[in-house]
Amino acid sequence: MSTQHMDAIIIGGGIVGASAALWLARAGKQVALLERDFCGSRSSGVNYGGVRRQGRSLVQLPLSCRAHEIWGQLPALLGIDGEYVRSGHLKLARSEADFAALQRWAQLSEPFDLGLQLLDREQLRARFPWVGDIAAGASYCPEDGHANPRLVSPLSHRRHGAMAHRCMSSAPWPA
Ligand SMILES: Cc1cc2nc3c(=O)[nH]c(=O)nc-3n(C[C@H](O)[C@H](O)[C@H](O)COP(=O)(O)OP(=O)(O)OC[C@H]3O[C@@H](n4cnc5c(N)ncnc54)[C@H](O)[C@@H]3O)c2cc1C
Repeated sequence: MSTQHMDAIIIGGGIVGASAALWLARAGKQVALLERDFCGSRSSGVNYGGVRRQGRSLVQLPLSCRAHEIWGQLPALLGIDGEYVRSGHLKLARSEADFAALQRWAQLSEPFDLGLQLLDREQLRARFPWVGDIAAGASYCPEDGHANPRLVSPLSHRRHGAMAHRCMSSAPWPA
């Protein structure tokens, strides 16, 4: 049996653990990532892939904005783009009250410069003719987007040499 010395041991190879491993390894630390199953096999590998800032709680926005920048750097960080695309997110209001709430959120989030575009009923139909009659308006965030969760989480730790191990067995992580 051999002994390995690590600066950090992270338990859980989802996007959170894998990202922590990535950034620690980039900082020159020896990192072991312990995963009971497969990296990215739980929520991080099977979600809808939405990468958005619009509509989040305001206290989350500083972190979401930092994440937004990092997602744009995936090729340099991971060697793949993770199929990340800033395709735009459209948030629809189903009533005038909903639209007022979208307007309120847009105002409150102004310091974060998300580039939101508020569309009233007519503007919405002109821009997105496929939207049904029920929609009373919308808020469009052109720089929000999506990625492929099956690609990003399993790869996040590897590029900079963090080692992942199945923690219920002694076998090293498959290359
Ligand atoms: C259906 C669905 C859709 C979603 N859509 C989106 C979306 O569009 N956009 C978005 O931003 N978020 C979305 N989410 C949320 C997002 O997927 C999660 O917030 C994120 O994946 C959480 O990452 P995590 O690393 O904390 O957890 P996980 O991905 O669950 O990773 C935790 C890992 O730890 C491992 N583990 C747990 N206990 C141990 C242990 N004792 N020893 C070893 N390993 C252990 C698990 O096996 C797992 O691999 C969605 C979630 C779901 C379920």
